[in-house]
Amino acid sequence: MKAIIKHSPEPGGLLLTQVPTPIPGDSQVLVKIKKTAICGTDIHIYNWDAWAQKTIKTPQIMGHEFVGEVVEIGRQVTNVKPGQLVSGEGHIVCGKCRHCITGHPHLCPQTVGIGVNMDGVFAEYAVIPSENIWVCDEAISQEILSILDPLGNATHTALSFNVLGEDVLITGAGPIGLMSIPIIKRAGARNIVVTDINPTRLEMAKTLGATKVVDVRTEKLTDIVKSLNSMKEGFDIGLEMSGSPYAFADMVAAMANGGKIAILGILPSNTQVDWNKVIFSSLTLKGIYGRQMYDTWYRMSALLQSGLDIEIAKIITHRFSYQDYQEAFELMSKGECGKVILEW
Ligand code: NAD
Ligand code: ZN
Repeated sequence: MKAIIKHSPEPGGLLLTQVPTPIPGDSQVLVKIKKTAICGTDIHIYNWDAWAQKTIKTPQIMGHEFVGEVVEIGRQVTNVKPGQLVSGEGHIVCGKCRHCITGHPHLCPQTVGIGVNMDGVFAEYAVIPSENIWVCDEAISQEILSILDPLGNATHTALSFNVLGEDVLITGAGPIGLMSIPIIKRAGARNIVVTDINPTRLEMAKTLGATKVVDVRTEKLTDIVKSLNSMKEGFDIGLEMSGSPYAFADMVAAMANGGKIAILGILPSNTQVDWNKVIFSSLTLKGIYGRQMYDTWYRMSALLQSGLDIEIAKIITHRFSYQDYQEAFELMSKGECGKVILEW
């Protein structure tokens, strides 16, 4: 089969090549891939940054965001049948540790990432453990079904705290920050302020329902907040979705006393935090990793079935054939886009 692999341990280093089609084990499923999407994580691997250098073993098949059709199942698989349209949870957990057996598998310390710690889905076929398979509602478009993984990150982060009647700050209007906007709007947020340094993405944030967008290169968040008459004391809820230490500092400074921050963006480990503000304003900081298995999957599916799909569709801006992967990766690295789909 054809697959896009990270071939060599250096920036770029991708190759479309022929590899053996994998054979599913007893509890695995063979999926014929229809559409995949490029994630920020794939861009970290593409750019070969410090995280990728310590995490990725080359050569390895890229990718973890997918939709496809089941073509073969292992002998012990009972939850899915050949012919069904499926996506999948990209985190494989051990199933044996304290967190796994007490219903919190998203906290499993043995988590392994598809397309990160093992071969991924940027290929004509992929083998996925049956417990990670999510059988899709075929009424939802296949493009949206190919981005359930990041939509799950957005759903999990956005619903981490109750936003009903609250003022929310989102730092970073990348695909996941953008997806969060219609979710928290539905959940009842009052003001939704979104910051970024990319005008294309801020424009998309506006279209998706942000009350105000702030280009932090030219505007001050504090000035914008002053212009919102209804807001007096700062934000109640923060969703950090940029991974930028500057954005995080802006957020901490802009929170009201008792404010709560969910951190999805992968901040550098040496990021400075104004601890006095955290302590004396009684802020809550919550780290977010992945999705809640499988609460997030049920919730996001229900949201899509009740009309969220129309808004999420606006975040998908580009489609490429898998053969044009190089162009797709370049576009995604420049950020002049929302979600980018590869068709197989
Ligand atoms: P992305 O990189 O496409 O989006 C980040 C956005 O932040 C970009 O639009 C960028 O222009 C913007 N930004 C940069 N500097 C900024 C600043 N100073 N102020 C405001 N915005 C700024 O990423 P994404 O795919 O949307 O993902 C969001 C973040 O979440 C990334 O850091 C990603 O690595 C991380 N992530 C974490 C998990 C997890 O499980 N914790 C899962 C997926 C993604
Ligand atoms: Zn576990």
